[in-house]
Amino acid sequence: MVIVIKQNYEQKQLDNLVKWVKQQGVDADLIVGSHSTILGLIGDTSKLDINLLRSLDIVESVKRIQEPFKCANRKFHPDDTIVDVGGHKFGGNNFQIIAGPCSIESEKQVIEIAKAVKKAGATVLRGGAYKPRTSPYSFQGLKESGLQLLLKAKQETGMPIVTEIMSVSHIDQFKDVDLIQIGARNMQNFELLKEVGKTKKPVLLKRGLANTIEEWLMSAEYIMSEGAKDIILCERGIRTFEPYTRNTLDLSAIPLLKELTHLPVIVDPSHASGLSRLVKPLSLAAVGAGAHGLMIEVHNDPEHALCDGAQSLRPEQFEDVVKQIDVMLPLVDKKWGL
Ligand code: PEP
Ligand code: MN
Repeated sequence: MVIVIKQNYEQKQLDNLVKWVKQQGVDADLIVGSHSTILGLIGDTSKLDINLLRSLDIVESVKRIQEPFKCANRKFHPDDTIVDVGGHKFGGNNFQIIAGPCSIESEKQVIEIAKAVKKAGATVLRGGAYKPRTSPYSFQGLKESGLQLLLKAKQETGMPIVTEIMSVSHIDQFKDVDLIQIGARNMQNFELLKEVGKTKKPVLLKRGLANTIEEWLMSAEYIMSEGAKDIILCERGIRTFEPYTRNTLDLSAIPLLKELTHLPVIVDPSHASGLSRLVKPLSLAAVGAGAHGLMIEVHNDPEHALCDGAQSLRPEQFEDVVKQIDVMLPLVDKKWGL
């Protein structure tokens, strides 16, 4: 971390700052030039409050040299992390597809869709039991009974399952869930992140509606600082000024994340666009940008879906997307993960 000191500082103020920094366990190197004075901080600066430093009278500006995320940082873990979800590997040169309905609606619905997406090539089944809806009057999910139906579909098809957790109080219900999803709205629910981290189960961490990549990695850090290692990041579009799509898919996040972190990165083109006809082009774009996988909403009757029908593919449309991806994978040095 580098602190630029204002030109007309008082020596006593600077001495106090150096003393305070050292009390925090960090070394300080002072460089006094003819036009500027710089304090270089050496050591673990992650605990220093950068905004507090910026607010000091004698401080002109503060710049971090090292990212504040340690566990998720590729610098300290150069090899890709491979996350195993019920025997299917995410990360490295493996490519995986998670698919299923937005919400679990009935036993028949979830099992029919599960069989169809498995046949088309999906390896992990998704389905929401607890749904984060903007309106309290919208369908809120079948909750615990929905989870039971998803577990039934797991038994019936042998597919591992992913579903969203919304409350710390539900953790016990998720013990047979293979991959716990933290949704966009809860990306910064720090208590939930910590409690889910304590389970040490694989976590699918979606990007918040309006969060930076660094904030997203700091959320992964919350989970990892509890000892969990298996985090999959999911880019699902961010809020912009563009109303034609539900969100704007941030494709540049994929190659950037691959530089910054060793964690696998997948893309959800369904929530990113909100439109089923955009799911195929965005899926292929995500493959081209280097994603390790996709999460796609599929419904056997999108017109009557209780949630997100407009962005859901029919099973035959999903099959077509998988076929196109199959053609692309060798071009991006990836293979279907086992
Ligand atoms: C979901 O995947 O069901 C969902 C609600 O997505 P997001 O949290 O990205 O909005
Ligand atoms: Mn949805």
